[in-house]
Amino acid sequence: MPTFEPLDPAMRAHALAATGFMPPHEGDALYSAALAAGAAVPGLPLLEVGSYCGRSTVWLGAAARAAGTVLFAVDHHRGSEENQSGWEHHDPTTVDARTGKMDTLPRFRDTIHDAGLEDVVFAVVGQSAAVAAHWTSPLAFLFIDGGHGEEPARLDYEGWTPRVAMGGTLAIHDVFPDPADGGRPPYEQIFRPALESGHFALVSATGSLRILHRVG
Ligand code: SAH
Ligand code: MG
Repeated sequence: MPTFEPLDPAMRAHALAATGFMPPHEGDALYSAALAAGAAVPGLPLLEVGSYCGRSTVWLGAAARAAGTVLFAVDHHRGSEENQSGWEHHDPTTVDARTGKMDTLPRFRDTIHDAGLEDVVFAVVGQSAAVAAHWTSPLAFLFIDGGHGEEPARLDYEGWTPRVAMGGTLAIHDVFPDPADGGRPPYEQIFRPALESGHFALVSATGSLRILHRVG
């Protein structure tokens, strides 16, 4: 296994300062996996589904730069079901007063700007399934952390995982094999089908993060 430079502490501080849901040790694991994938499959981009305010995006954008590639960050920036008003993960400061809707794009832009990653991180603002339907580039690395309901999780699996290049990496967040630990769709609609398809093999697990390699 090649060894890679650890993430620059100043860059890591930008990730930790950003609003979001990525625990530090899982972000570090995400960085290592993305950097390794970028090196294993040179010339192809990385792609994230579900950026929110750009927290995970900083780890991935830093990995893209270190691997000499770029990161596409797909999000409609209107929040998942569980981010809406009245739900557990709602942050009222993400609501746009003019529309009354969530809008995390300004916060995302601030995070990427402050981290100095605007040259390698490109926001793609839209519905994940609709973007996936028009996406043709193979990917060195795919991170799925978008809608955690059954349908969005299934659509992310169907729409995006075929784009992972042979030897590339699929990373999935919020995978909870034990229902007592959290919601099921990332486990049932993405992780299990990926393994059962025979196209992906499990490489590592850190918290609720799963790293799989495309093997077939
Ligand atoms: N990775 C982030 C957390 C992502 S939260 C972090 O590290 O903090 C999930 C994000 O997925 C939200 O920003 C939400 O807007 C987005 N999302 C949910 N369903 C989506 C869909 N169908 N299309 C595009 N984005 C979606
Ligand atoms: Mg998550």
